Amino acid sequence: MLNRTRKLDWIGKFLFVLFIALFTSFLLITCYKAPVTGRSQLILISEEEANQMGVTAFQEVLSKEKVSNNAVYNEAVTRVAGRITGVSVTPRYNWDYKVFKDDKTINAFALPGGKIGVYSGIIPVAMNDAGLATVLGHEVAHVAAHHGAERISAGILAQLGAVALGVALSNRDPLVVNAIMQAYGIGVTVGGILPFSRTQESEADRIGLIYMAKAGYHPGEAIDFWNRMELATQNKPRPPEFLATHPGYGTRVSNLKKWLPEAMRYYESSDRATNLLISSAH
Ligand SMILES: [Zn+2]
Repeated sequence: MLNRTRKLDWIGKFLFVLFIALFTSFLLITCYKAPVTGRSQLILISEEEANQMGVTAFQEVLSKEKVSNNAVYNEAVTRVAGRITGVSVTPRYNWDYKVFKDDKTINAFALPGGKIGVYSGIIPVAMNDAGLATVLGHEVAHVAAHHGAERISAGILAQLGAVALGVALSNRDPLVVNAIMQAYGIGVTVGGILPFSRTQESEADRIGLIYMAKAGYHPGEAIDFWNRMELATQNKPRPPEFLATHPGYGTRVSNLKKWLPEAMRYYESSDRATNLLISSAH
């Protein structure tokens, strides 16, 4: 009898811990909603944890990549990114934008907490501030919608399973920390960029379109930008990561056209930005 009581005690404690853990996870889950789309998100790590990972990953990228000292490019990115982040739901993040000197890479990326990298190869394709606003709108959207933390959470779930996770989360078990690091490690192997899902990519397009419009750039320019991207990358032997994990051009442009009327309403009441041409001379 004594043994049985002890066993019941243990089960009781276990269920109590599990209940608290699941309740806490539930609170975290219900607290997150993506901006613009209102999509509910499953996020199991704190904003601080995710942002710290972003800082670490960015330092890693900075130690490997060459930062561009092209004044025209750097000024353009700072100018446009400042307007975009200003209209985002996370304007007070510690934003940092870097241009990497790599003319062959037609790419850009975003890390949790507001660390944005733009490869110099994408700037001639962006061509002007509105084109760059399309790229940066998309990247800022990934950050503002906590897509990185969402990917890490998906990694935790995949590795631990829901019950083990509930128990582990109750005391910040090292298992969770390991899972977080492994999920994050997957991202690092592809150059500090966490692979986003198709849903997140499409969502970043939609939020990005709204952000560029709110920031005073004509959202119709996003369609012109994607047409230029298609031309610039059509003869590439392998599609760059920015494209490989993103929707095809056809889907992307037709989605943007569908969201255009909503974006135009924001543009009409925006503080208009001048659409400067970005000279490629450097
Ligand atoms: Zn993306």
